[in-house]
Amino acid sequence: MEYAVRAACRVTYRNLPAVMKKIIELKQVYKAYPQAGSLQTVLHDINLQIFPGEFVAIVGPSGNGKSTLLNLLTGIDHPSSGQVIVNGMALQNLSNEKLTQWRGANLGIVFQFFQLLPTLSLLQNVVLPMDFHGKLPKPQRQQRAMQLLDRVGLADAFDRLPSQVSGGQQQRAAIARALANDPPLIVADEPTGNLDAATSDDVFDLFAHLRDQGKTLVMVTHNEVLANAASRKLEIRCGRIHTDTPAQAV
Ligand code: ADP
Ligand code: MG
Repeated sequence: MEYAVRAACRVTYRNLPAVMKKIIELKQVYKAYPQAGSLQTVLHDINLQIFPGEFVAIVGPSGNGKSTLLNLLTGIDHPSSGQVIVNGMALQNLSNEKLTQWRGANLGIVFQFFQLLPTLSLLQNVVLPMDFHGKLPKPQRQQRAMQLLDRVGLADAFDRLPSQVSGGQQQRAAIARALANDPPLIVADEPTGNLDAATSDDVFDLFAHLRDQGKTLVMVTHNEVLANAASRKLEIRCGRIHTDTPAQAV
């Protein structure tokens, strides 16, 4: 049965129109890497549809293809065969330059190790995607970055370098950065994987808030609480979608 049809039976989906635009679609996607002189297939025949407003948790053992799958959704990597269509764009049709532009407008990405630029303040890190994107007039960028830092509880730390704040604060700044251009889709790869339990809770609250705002979230996580806050859980095993289930909403 189509996922949307199954999901339509659940409270979370009750208000969705019967025919929905997909925000992510993968069709017959394979990914192979050259390893030890041969090709190792790490994703096999992935067919997936994700709809606007879904919060999808991707779970599964290490080394089974979760990050590879996320990297295909962001265009950081390309499939060996098959199609990846995100927000109406077939990513394989874009040049690297166009892909970077497209990503800036459509995606916020949050990584396990934050990946803030170490020589820039938190504020400058959040302004940077706005500078690349160039849509918001320059004088308004700092103001928006301050609002975003305020939203993640970091207004007082705006002028600090990443190395001068905790891991949890760096991740919150990275979430502010992901929201810089107000993308419809946020993709995160183990965003609490490097945080202790208390700081994970803060980061969790931010994602729950984004979910409530109707952002589409796709997140690899080993954190069960985070996974259970999702509207849908995809389990990846051996490079395949092993299970695809509506998760229990918190
Ligand atoms: P997960 O995120 O589930 O831990 P990954 O997607 O990172 O797993 O990796 C899946 C498999 O693909 C692993 O066997 C890994 O070694 C392999 N792999 C990932 N990236 C590359 C790469 N750039 N080159 C070669 N092999 C890779
Ligand atoms: Mg991974």
